[in-house]
Amino acid sequence: MATTRAPEDAYTAEPFVPDGADLTALRRAAAGCRGCPLHRAATRTVFGAGSADARVMLVGEQPGDQEDRQGKPFVGPAGKLLDRALAEAGLDPAEAYVTNAVKHFKFTRAAPGKRRIHKAPSLREMTACGPWLAAELALVEPELIVVLGATAGKALLGPAFRVGEVRGTVLEREIHGRPERLVPTVHPSSVLRADDREQAYQGLVADLGVAVQALG
Ligand code: SF4
Repeated sequence: MATTRAPEDAYTAEPFVPDGADLTALRRAAAGCRGCPLHRAATRTVFGAGSADARVMLVGEQPGDQEDRQGKPFVGPAGKLLDRALAEAGLDPAEAYVTNAVKHFKFTRAAPGKRRIHKAPSLREMTACGPWLAAELALVEPELIVVLGATAGKALLGPAFRVGEVRGTVLEREIHGRPERLVPTVHPSSVLRADDREQAYQGLVADLGVAVQALG
């Protein structure tokens, strides 16, 4: 008997991304994405937030527990820390477009009913979700992309990306057919986990300061 392949087995969001859509239509379409298996366990798609006129786009890894519940990116503890660091670096968080490389929360549980524990997305899942990030970049056309952590870096710059090698520098690369300027830094959640949290936080602020300078 012939078996029907589920759309998520193809590992690409491409068929779900509408042509010629604005951000609102894109967000609506992303809510129904079945481009990889991550939608099954997560509560909802967490699409990017912010204005299509934003000069800077911040790209993180994936939604966390709070983001999954609220449907908005960077609303959990890491997001609050990021807002504080952005403000300290001289960038109004409200003026940035914020999104993630992967739009569904990937997690594991120690036992049924236990707390959901973040699990890093695979390269295959990142690649599957890439068409959404490409569509956001094409619509927002940011002057600068701030790359928050290794997953976002791998999604945008390839699997060889190492955040420690390039953080706090301005890179110029072609991304999805467009010349882009990027400033990589650590993901704010790594600051929350750091042994010396204050030092890690100041490092994040310094990297964001490079982004602010690059924006002029
Ligand atoms: S993670 Fe991305 S590709 Fe996978 S189902 Fe969610 S939106 Fe679609």
